[in-house]
Amino acid sequence: MTAYERSKIILRFADLLERHNDEIAALETWDNGKPFEQSAQTEVPMTTRLFRYYAGWADKIQGLTAPADGPYHVQTLHEPIGVAGQIIPWNFPLLMFAWKVGPALACGNTIVLKTAEQTPLSALYVSKLLHEAGLPPGVLNIVSGYGPTAGAALASHMEVDKLAFTGSTTTGKIVLQLAAKSNLKPVTLELGGKSPFIVCEDADVDKAAELAHYALFFNQGQCCCAGSRTFVHESVYDQFVEKANALAMKRVVGDPFKGGIQQGPQIDSEQFEKILKYIRSGVDGGAKLETGGERLGSKGYYIKPTVFTDVKDDMLIAKDEIFGPVQSILKYKDLDEVIQRSNASQYGLAAGVFTHNLDTANTLMRALRVGTVWINCFDVFDAAIPFGGYKQSGQGREKSFYSLSNYLQVKAVVTALKNPAWL
Ligand code: NAD
Repeated sequence: MTAYERSKIILRFADLLERHNDEIAALETWDNGKPFEQSAQTEVPMTTRLFRYYAGWADKIQGLTAPADGPYHVQTLHEPIGVAGQIIPWNFPLLMFAWKVGPALACGNTIVLKTAEQTPLSALYVSKLLHEAGLPPGVLNIVSGYGPTAGAALASHMEVDKLAFTGSTTTGKIVLQLAAKSNLKPVTLELGGKSPFIVCEDADVDKAAELAHYALFFNQGQCCCAGSRTFVHESVYDQFVEKANALAMKRVVGDPFKGGIQQGPQIDSEQFEKILKYIRSGVDGGAKLETGGERLGSKGYYIKPTVFTDVKDDMLIAKDEIFGPVQSILKYKDLDEVIQRSNASQYGLAAGVFTHNLDTANTLMRALRVGTVWINCFDVFDAAIPFGGYKQSGQGREKSFYSLSNYLQVKAVVTALKNPAWL
C-alpha cells in the first residue's frame, strides 16, 4: 500500500473515533473505573489527535543520500521493521494502544498487540473501527490474554521483529530477556517511575498545591509518571501542607459514571490491597498520616485520597511506585540537596518543577535525570512531545517523530558509479 493510502486510512479512523467518542469512553470507564468525564473529554480526544498526528507522518518517512570517499551513490531506505509485537498496561488502555499502534501503522508495519487482562474492551472495539476505515485484514491483530502466557509468547516469538512494552519495571526486564533469548528483536520499554514534583521557595503556594495534587491524584494515582514525591521547600512547607490536605479532603470520589466525580475505584483487588499495604507501611515507618489512609465505603475498590507528611527518603512510600492516591510530602532546604535526592532513585521517568525563577528552572531542568521535565505544568502529553525514561524507567521514546525510528529499519544502498560527473 502507498504511504498516502495508509495516511488516508488513519485519518478516516480518527474521524470514526471522533464520531464514537462517548461509547468508546464508556467502554474505557467500564473496564478501568476512571471517571467517564475524563475518558470522554481527555483520553478519547487525545487518542484521536494522536492518530491524526501519525497520519501526517505516514507520507513523510523517507531516506537520505550520503557522501562517500569514492565513486559511489549512497542512499538509505527507511523500511518497515516487519511484525511489531506490542504489550500494553491497564492504566490508560486506549492511549497506550494509540502510542503503540499510531507510529507502527504510519511506518507500514503489521502488528500483534496484547491488551492488559483487566482492560481488553476499548482496543477490541476501536480495532473494528480501524477495519471500517479500510485497514486490510491481518494488519492489526489484537490478543486478549495473560502476561506469562500470551505476553511471554509474543516477546519470545521468532517471527516477531520488534517488541514494544509498557508496564512495570519487573515485567520489562522479563520481556527484554525473552526477546534476547529468542531472536534478539529490538525492544522499547516504557516502565515505572517515582517522579519528583519540586515546589521551590518562590512558589505561589495555592497554585503549587493544586498542580502537585493533580500530578499525583490524576487517574486514581495510577500514572507511571505520577508526581509521587512532592518535595517542598522548608520556607513554604507548612502553608503547602495545609493546602494539600484541604485539596485531598475535597476530592470527589465515587461512581465514575456520575458527573463531577474526580476519582473512581482502583483497577482491581490486587492493586487495592497493594496500595493499602503501602499506606500501612507509611504509618508503621513513622510518616505522619494527614488525611485518608483507608478504604472509602465498604463496596468497590475506592481509597480515600491520602496525604503523608514528614516522609523520609528511605521509607517505602518514598521509594516504591505505589500506583495509587497516596501523596508523600518531603521537606528540603536547598537546590543542590533536592537535586541529589530527586536523582537518588532507580527511576527517571519525569519531574515537575514549580518556580518562576528562570535560573532555578534552568538549573533543575538540566540537573534532573529524567525523560520529561514539566515546568509550572504537569501531564502535558501532546502527540509531538516525546515520552520515555532514563535509568530503570525504560529505553527508547514514544510519541513524536522520535517514535518512528522504533518501527523502521535503515538500509544503506551503495551503488558504484561508472562515469560520475562529480563525486
Ligand atoms: P505489568 O507489568 O504487570 O503488566 C503490563 C503488561 O505486561 C500487561 O499486558 C501484562 O499482561 C503483561 N505481562 C505481565 N507479565 C508478563 C510476562 N511475564 N511476559 C509478557 N508480558 C507480561 O504492569 P501493570 O500492573 O499492568 O501496569 C502498571 C505498570 O505499568 C506500572 O508500574 C506503571 O508505572 C507502568 N506504566 C508505565 C508507563 C510508561 O509509559 N512508562 C505507562 C503506563 C504504565
